[in-house]
Amino acid sequence: MKLAIVVGHNSEKQGAVRPDTGESEFVWNSGLAKMIEQQARDYPGFEVKIFYRQPGLGYRGEIRRVYEETDRWGANATVELHFNASSNPNASGTETLTSGTAASMALALAVNQEMVAVLGLKDRGVKTRSARDRGGASLMSGRAPAILIEPFFGTSKRGQCATNSLSKKEALAEAIVRGVAASMNAMPRTEAQMADSRTLRHTKGQRQKILGAAASVAATVGLSGDATALDAIGLADQIGAALPYLKWIVPIVLLGLLFALRMDTQAIEEARWDDHENGLR
Ligand SMILES: [Zn+2]
Repeated sequence: MKLAIVVGHNSEKQGAVRPDTGESEFVWNSGLAKMIEQQARDYPGFEVKIFYRQPGLGYRGEIRRVYEETDRWGANATVELHFNASSNPNASGTETLTSGTAASMALALAVNQEMVAVLGLKDRGVKTRSARDRGGASLMSGRAPAILIEPFFGTSKRGQCATNSLSKKEALAEAIVRGVAASMNAMPRTEAQMADSRTLRHTKGQRQKILGAAASVAATVGLSGDATALDAIGLADQIGAALPYLKWIVPIVLLGLLFALRMDTQAIEEARWDDHENGLR
């Protein structure tokens, strides 16, 4: 079992800062990552490697690169480390983000449960994120099942209190390893299993369908443009009969596109729901 730990943010843009110790997400989680590596030594067959995001590549480039590295290493699962922040000092609790695939969901549920048990903070639950959402790219970029953890709010007194000593931090590291170990049976071991993610496959299919629909809208707009151009060079008469219909084509195609998008969103939700069910079995 190869577990890749990805430290959130980077050395230049370090993420949120917890006011009690002045530590950024990057600094605090670099320490947590080492503790996870240490704790995993007690688990036979467990291999942990820490990965850092490289600054200066732009957000997408940064995420793509680090998850390419975890792929190259052959990770069976990836966990990206963060902590939460809010302008509301009362916002508190533990949450874990999942891509919604069966394996990512199993991993998220197990790790979240262990973190809640050890921190004693409110269980904000496991949240499914799509590629467009905040943190979503981290869940979709690598081949291995991925989660992103937000164990506490650095801006909350409760969150600070639950994580402000070495022993509490070590307990959190151990809880994360325990959660990963508990979901190990749900983790894919082979390339074929890794690629067998319904939600991801469907998302890719949907993207192609949207592109296809957008292309047909563009073609239609182009067609009406052509009609104007033809008009200018005196050929309008030849297609004159078609012009009254052309102005209707664009709104009709747009309506069709909207409908297709809606259907696909529903299909994605259903595919996710199936994956949830599989993950829970
Ligand atoms: Zn963060």
